[in-house]
Amino acid sequence: MLNFGGSRGQTIAKAVAGLRAEVITANVRDRLTNFLQIEDSRELYHANPRRIAAHLQLPERETLNILLVCLQAGLVVLNWEVQCPVCGGIDFNPKSLIDLRTYHTCPACHLVHATDADNQVRVTFSLDDRLRKLGSEADDPQFRQTIDAKYGAVSGHRMLTLNAFRDLFPRERVPPNESLLVRRVAILFTDLAGSTALYSRRGDARAYNLVRQHFNLLFSIVDEHNGLVVKTIGDAVMGAFTVPMDALRAAIAMHRQIAHLNQELKLAPEDCLILKVGIDVGPCISVTLNDRPDYFGLTVNTAARIQATSQGNDIAVTEALADELTASSLAKDWTWQRRTHMLKGIDDPVLVHYIQPVLTAAL
Ligand SMILES: [Zn+2]
Repeated sequence: MLNFGGSRGQTIAKAVAGLRAEVITANVRDRLTNFLQIEDSRELYHANPRRIAAHLQLPERETLNILLVCLQAGLVVLNWEVQCPVCGGIDFNPKSLIDLRTYHTCPACHLVHATDADNQVRVTFSLDDRLRKLGSEADDPQFRQTIDAKYGAVSGHRMLTLNAFRDLFPRERVPPNESLLVRRVAILFTDLAGSTALYSRRGDARAYNLVRQHFNLLFSIVDEHNGLVVKTIGDAVMGAFTVPMDALRAAIAMHRQIAHLNQELKLAPEDCLILKVGIDVGPCISVTLNDRPDYFGLTVNTAARIQATSQGNDIAVTEALADELTASSLAKDWTWQRRTHMLKGIDDPVLVHYIQPVLTAAL
């Protein structure tokens, strides 16, 4: 471990030691302490989270979750940067989500452009200067460019799809009447087939107990697959994923685990939970509504509508995801049907692919 002559090293070690034990193991704690004491201060100023993940030898999602705990404890600050799509200049002024607007003006070339949360808004972390004062050499644009070229930036949209961000920073929001453009997101809707009959057969309390267990399963599956639980509507769950294949993998895990739950609870066939899932991929706008992140647009409507056409125990997907799936060759043993539907509120007919995955297949 590098030694910063007593007080600085001790301040950092003490601050890391104070982090909540349940989110960070002793091993990671040591690596994090070493990283925050690193000699090269450029690594700690507007640092790319993927570079930090490499230092901590952890996956990106786990690293982001740890950085959010550090943010909450005041060890680091989170920067929302906006890169101009024309001149490439980076606006470092936004200090939080509330500083972002539907349209952004580049401070360098004065271009006004829609704020694109996927391609232009990026998040970085800096060490809080109360822990360690970084010298002027920490601010090295050339160094950051080299790191970004190697690892790729972490988008603002990725941060918005982290459940931990929503849970730990509920006040962080896109301002009212403003929205961010999302170029590509996978929106997943689930619902339970025949839940009205389930409530009438089992009674409200017993049926809801079952529905609650299904919610808990689905919430953790969405989180494990890098997705955000946007909201629940009745027995339905809406999730958002920045990587479309993550949404599909989550849907498969949902079917698998609901089947396990049915078995575990030894439910009679007529009481078994049957999940309907629909996924669409495309652009959306991201807003904060009723203090929570939400998405609006045709992709959201399509995902909700195609979920409603599912028979249960299948995954209804649009052409956008089906193309990606075919290309990945994951689906070669799966049952696959296609039907075209006219969907309410959508002008053109929509080709829907219904896939029934082999639940034992390793993905
Ligand atoms: Zn510019």
